[in-house]
Amino acid sequence: MSEYQESTLQIDLSALTHNVTYLRGKLKESTKMLAVVKAAGYGSDAIAIAKHLESINIDYLAVAYTKEGVALRDAGIKLPILVLHPQPSNFKTIIDRCLEPNIYSFRVLELFLEEVSALTLKKYPIHLKFNTGLNRLGFLPLDVVSLLGKIKGHSGIEVRSVFTHLAASEDPEEKDFTKSQIEKFDEILSHLLPSLGRRPIIHATNTSGILNYPEAHYDMVRTGIGIYGYANDPKYDIHLKPVTSLLSVISQIHEIARGQSVGYNRALIAQKPIRTATIPLGHADGISRYYGNGIGWVTINGEKAPMVGNICMDMLMVDVSEIDCTEGDTVLVFGPDNPASQLAQHANSISYELLTAVSSRITRVVVQK
Ligand SMILES: *Cc1c(COP(=O)(O)O)cnc(C)c1O
Repeated sequence: MSEYQESTLQIDLSALTHNVTYLRGKLKESTKMLAVVKAAGYGSDAIAIAKHLESINIDYLAVAYTKEGVALRDAGIKLPILVLHPQPSNFKTIIDRCLEPNIYSFRVLELFLEEVSALTLKKYPIHLKFNTGLNRLGFLPLDVVSLLGKIKGHSGIEVRSVFTHLAASEDPEEKDFTKSQIEKFDEILSHLLPSLGRRPIIHATNTSGILNYPEAHYDMVRTGIGIYGYANDPKYDIHLKPVTSLLSVISQIHEIARGQSVGYNRALIAQKPIRTATIPLGHADGISRYYGNGIGWVTINGEKAPMVGNICMDMLMVDVSEIDCTEGDTVLVFGPDNPASQLAQHANSISYELLTAVSSRITRVVVQK
């Protein structure tokens, strides 16, 4: 019998502690650590993760959207929270809930300054983001002078941090490009910092940057995927522990005769008699239709069962012809011994996508092993 009788995402907080400790070991004592808990804590449970991170003295949290920060405040999280991708329509909420916006363009800056002035706030913390090559969000190096003109002496705000984001920190082929991003950032800082007064927190690296570019740790690092147990590199993966395990259960077993089909569109036609197991997880749960038809597998009683036929919305079928198993047995989709990174790779994806895709209807269970 399975430990869980429905699809369940198990969240292991002791693995989270382990990963934070490992990553902290890569930093100088004085370097701060910001933990990224966007997208439900990379598909887990942002509140459970953030509470635990707060208890182990993380310095900062970051979310992508304002709503995610509000949910953390509602849950009583007191840590400073950087909102990486705020929209001006949410500035009132940001201020109301003591969230700290990433200011990444003149449009966003001006609208935030208007809000701050209207409320006659003093020294509201903001974070300035520079685009050094990712070309996603951020001011350009040539914006520095004009930017300083707008913020210098403005009593309503205080630049709490200045940061950039690396485009390919996990890719050894792109070392030169990454180094050029770091150089550009240094150049920006050399113009910006002398005019800012109090030194803001400087930060640039994500998880792979922490591991591959120690020279770019500055005052703080931002880690997301690493604290969840993945490092984009087998060399470092072995030191980390996946925090989440996606578990399920065999709903039904079918004996399929030669020539019979399995699933929608009859995508699998059995070439010989086979046995299939139906699992209550589908594309609406985060196992996309890029899986199936031989791509991807689950583990049942320690054996790999390939996903066969098309993935349905709420279920998928696996071939268990060679596996000793029965209805009600546990199914492991990913977890510490079956990393999400490997499964994702089979569908041309990455751990990030598979982890964050786990739908909200899957039960979360928090454990400390
Ligand atoms: C998501 C995100 C991170 C975290 O990246 P990981 O690769 O998961 O460590 C860091 N910084 C920014 C700006 C992000 O958007």
